[in-house]
Amino acid sequence: MNLREELDRRHADGLLRRRLTLEGAQGPHVRVAGRDYLAFASNDYLGLANHPALAEAVAQGAQRYGVGAGASHLIVGHGRAHDTLEQELADFVGLPRALLFSTGYMANLGVVSALVGRHDEVFADKLNHASLNDAVVLSRARMRRYPHGDVRILGRLLAESAAPRKLVVTDGVFSMDGDVAPLKELLALCERHGAFLLVDDAHGFGVLGARGRGILSHFALASPSIIYMATLGKAIGVAGAFVAGHPDCVEILIQRARPYVYTTAFPPLLAAAVSASLAIVQEDEWRRDHLATLIRRLRQGLASGRWRLSPSTTPIQPLLVGGNQEALDLSEALRAQGLLVPAIRPPTVPRDSARLRISLSAAHTLKDIERLVDVLCALS
Ligand SMILES: *Cc1c(COP(=O)(O)O)cnc(C)c1O
Repeated sequence: MNLREELDRRHADGLLRRRLTLEGAQGPHVRVAGRDYLAFASNDYLGLANHPALAEAVAQGAQRYGVGAGASHLIVGHGRAHDTLEQELADFVGLPRALLFSTGYMANLGVVSALVGRHDEVFADKLNHASLNDAVVLSRARMRRYPHGDVRILGRLLAESAAPRKLVVTDGVFSMDGDVAPLKELLALCERHGAFLLVDDAHGFGVLGARGRGILSHFALASPSIIYMATLGKAIGVAGAFVAGHPDCVEILIQRARPYVYTTAFPPLLAAAVSASLAIVQEDEWRRDHLATLIRRLRQGLASGRWRLSPSTTPIQPLLVGGNQEALDLSEALRAQGLLVPAIRPPTVPRDSARLRISLSAAHTLKDIERLVDVLCALS
């Protein structure tokens, strides 16, 4: 098939993806193609992406450190801002050591490919984020996928495995469903079968747990088998990611994680911005409280109508539609009313489960939620 045919096919199947161009900052109100929208689309769950204290930290960071890191971490790109932030992140999540990566995608590629290889096995939840799946391919380990959240089947697969190293990988909060992994049960299985547990907390860090410490705090879990990954571009409002865990694990990543070793260090001014954001994340309990209120209000508002939200207690509130075209049409109808809610289609989600991914932010108001509920109800 030539490239044009492939694009035409995608278009015909309702699978052609298009970008929107935002004129200003991320937030509940965005301007696209000359029109203002109320948006329920970003992962800026705490409303920090456009916080003045973060912008100020970037400006001061630029004065102190300049703009570019200029080298990889292992040459001369590793600076005081990175080092301080790594310690702050480790302390915040209650693990011995942390390592910064430039993106969550790279962190996942790095961890999995550094820890397992050709003869090892990775056990992965069916609904894991694409970056975790790609990571397993890169590692060349054997991938065994288990049905979403099914600890019984996972237990069987682990018991059958004779691999020298076993790694269970899971999203903490599933990115397109908003539900939370059964982490206690997963950890118990990993400890019983001598497996590592990699938890991708991209959507829980800053949101779940005491002071936003994330999913390990939410479940009060601690174990040397846990390798924790979280991103810094979602609730934290900046960019990048980190991996935290046992000091030997972090040391192995520094030696072997290719997406860490062979890339230019994250700009130090962004590390300074993440430090500033972490202080706000811990301090502003009201952001998480307000978010919980918004989630409750949305679910109450849609409880009795035609639209079905999947069970979720997190800011990711999927409205299941089914067909690709139906999901696109609903998203378009909302857009015509000034609301931006993205339609999520395969391959991001399984076939016939296209949905609107409604995501809430502490920067939304109760009025914003009411407007969304009113417009949705008027469309049904
Ligand atoms: C967003 C996301 C990532 C990738 O993080 P980036 O920093 O955006 O590259 C990884 N895992 C999950 C579950 C995510 O939602």
